[in-house]
This record gives sequence, C-alpha cells and structure tokens, in this order.
Amino acid sequence: MIRTIWFLAKVAIVVAIAIWLVERPGHVSVVWQGYVVETSFAMMVLILAVALGAAAVLYRLFRALWTAPSDIARYSRRRKRERGYRALTRGMVAVAAGDAGTARRMARKADGLLDEPPLTMLLQAQSAQLAGDEDAARRYFTAMLERPETAFLGLRGLLNQALRAGDRVEALALARRAQRIQPDTPWLLATLVDLEARAGDWAAAESTLQQAVQVGAVTPEEGRHRRAALLLERSYEAERRGRDDAADGHARAANDLLPGFVPAAARLARLLVKAGRTRKAMKVVQRAWRQNPHTELADAYREAIGAYDPLARAKQFQKLASYAPNHVESHLAVARAAMDAKLWGEARSHLTKAMEIEPSHRVYALLAELERGEHGNDEAAQTWLAQAASAPADPAWTCRACGHPAHAWSGLCESCGAFDTLEWKSPSLALHLTAGEHTRTGANTNLPTVIEAAR
Ligand SMILES: [Zn+2]
Repeated sequence: MIRTIWFLAKVAIVVAIAIWLVERPGHVSVVWQGYVVETSFAMMVLILAVALGAAAVLYRLFRALWTAPSDIARYSRRRKRERGYRALTRGMVAVAAGDAGTARRMARKADGLLDEPPLTMLLQAQSAQLAGDEDAARRYFTAMLERPETAFLGLRGLLNQALRAGDRVEALALARRAQRIQPDTPWLLATLVDLEARAGDWAAAESTLQQAVQVGAVTPEEGRHRRAALLLERSYEAERRGRDDAADGHARAANDLLPGFVPAAARLARLLVKAGRTRKAMKVVQRAWRQNPHTELADAYREAIGAYDPLARAKQFQKLASYAPNHVESHLAVARAAMDAKLWGEARSHLTKAMEIEPSHRVYALLAELERGEHGNDEAAQTWLAQAASAPADPAWTCRACGHPAHAWSGLCESCGAFDTLEWKSPSLALHLTAGEHTRTGANTNLPTVIEAAR
C-alpha cells in the first residue's frame, strides 16, 4: 500500500516537472569546436537525465566485473562448508544408526571439506570405533588431547577404551586428568569413585563420593551406603596398620551413618570386644538387631558374651531376641544358645517356630544336631540332614554384578572386583541369574559350609 502511494507520488512529481518545463519553454544553444547544437531546454534536461542513467548502469557493470573473482571464491567456500556440515550430519546419523561404512566415509569427507578439527576428529574417532578399529580411534582421541576444546572429549574416549579393555590403572589416571579439566561432571565423578575404590584408595574415593552426591551423580541413599562401605574398608586398613583407634573410629562412623547395616555393626562390635568393651559391643548388636536381625550379628554377640557360662549366654540371647521377637534369626539364635546350655525343650520350640517361618539348611542342620545332642539319635539326625540337602539355600553375601557368593562381606567383590555390590540374599536366586556352570558347583559346595556354620 505504502509502496503504491510512493510510486504514484514519484510519477506525480515527474509529471509535474514535465508540465512545468513545457509551460516554460526555453532555448539552449551549445557552441563547441565549431559545432552548434540548438535544442529546447526540456530536451536538454531529458538528454542529461538519460546520460546520468547510462553512467550509473556502466558503473554498476564495472563494479560487478571487478569483484566477481572474490564473490565466486566466497560462494564456493560457502558451498564447501555446507557440503562439509552435511557430511558431518550424515556421519553422526550413521554413527547413531551403527552404519560403520557410511560413518567412516562421511567422516573423511567432512574432514576434507571442513576446517573444524574438534568436530571432525570426534566423528572420525567414533566411526573408527564403530568399525572396530580401536587403534585408529585411540589415535584420534589422543590427537584431541592437544586442543583445549577437545581435550575432555578425547580423555573420555580414551577412558572408555581403557575401561572396556579392563585396564583400571590407566582408566584411573585418565579419569583424574579429565576431572582436572571438568571437576563437576556427574558421570565422571561416579566413574572415579568406582575406580578409586577398586584401586583401594578409600580416602580419595570417599572425598570424590561426597562430590558425586553433591552434583547428583549418586543419590544420597546410595551415597550413604557406599560411604559406609568405604569407612569399613578404611577401618580394616587401619587395623592392618596397627592403628586400632582409627579402625574403631571408622567402624563407628559407618555404624552411625547407616544404622542396621550389618557389616558395620558386626565390625564395630568385634572391635569393641577386642578392646575389652564387651558391654558396649552387646549394646551395638542389640541396636542393630532391632532393625536387621542377622546371623553375623548373632556371631558377634556370641563373641561379646563368650566369657559367660552357657546358661547365662542363653539368657543373653533371649534378651537379644526380644528386640525382634518374631524374626527367624531370633529363633535360630536362641535355639543355638539353648542347645549349648542343653535346654533341649526350648531349643526345639524355637526351631519349630523357625521352621514355620522359613525352612532352610540351617534349621534342618540344627534339628539334626538337636537329635544327636538330646537323644543321641544318629538315625533321626541323618533324616534331618537329608532334608537339609533339598531345603532352600541359606542367604549369603552375593555380588549383585557377577552373582558370586562371598564367604564374608567386603567392600570389593572377590570375584569381579566391583565395589559395594554385595547383598545378603539367597545364592540360589543369584546363581539362577548367572551362568549355568556355577549353579551346580555353587549349591553343592555350599552345603557342607552351611552345616559347619550351623554347628
Ligand atoms: Zn562380583
């Protein structure tokens, strides 16, 4: 609309000028070098206007010709970049789709077309990895370390390679180097905690874990569990170095951090017994028993009251059981103590209750022992033991990662080396999940130890 008005206005101005000139006729005479040009004033204005217009057109043409080479160069550069980015995009899509051939071709093409090493190097490394060429990938990742903007990505690539190859020493060094560049990266902190713990660097792992919880890489609940595991390992380490005070302090910290965490309570109780503080040890076990009755706590309690006579010990176990009166572990603990004190009737009644709640190897093994102890009846004992063989397996500390059942709790799995993966559960369940060859051997080798443990 505005353009139309503007156009009409321009036409009106030209018409007005034309009318003005026609209404005021004049005469122009030019004499030059003997030539005489005579014309009207209006015609001269027209000739001047046409001459100016022609000059403007000529000037533009000349300029276009003058700048053409650089324009063409700029255009071809832009085309090249566009093609480069297109190749890069197609390469990244191919990596995501797992198409190694296309990825590699596009990576090479993008590298030739683009002057953007940070982008093309990563694509080249990824496509090399996709094609299974780890050596080439390592070369690209290593080259990425030389530029500050790609160093972190390069370290990440090398770290993942080291982890896959199982080279934890190299992985730890790379992870620490990467952490210096980007200290708060969640995945890196989580990996670093694991690597430091696996390397037995408990103190470093503890401080990294704190950071990992702060940035949300590890949930607070998980963080507490891992920290308790780290503190327990620090406690074992301190004891090995003869620093009993530190061993005690770390175990106490773990127990305070995670009340009811059996390894922590049992560990603290044992250290207290070692220091001659049996009353305090009993208190620790009783408090944990309220939350989590457990056979290892019963063992620690037995050590704490070792100096008592059998009848007094049976009484102490009744007191312990009163913290969780209906739990199968309470019945089993009292039954064992009662058998030691030859209180056969009480033992039988608790074993019967344990059997009702959860029949297991241990219950049958204790019943066999009861038959031998009370009546000297070997035949009945054999019958119970035969039933023990087909009873559900007793729980054990079992690795969540590899399914290996451990003899005792530890921060690191003795089979696969994973950190804080031991859970108290029935090994038969875990062995189901792992390779078939373990199933048989695991179940069979467990039986004698279970009976041994029940004695
Ligand atoms: Zn494991």
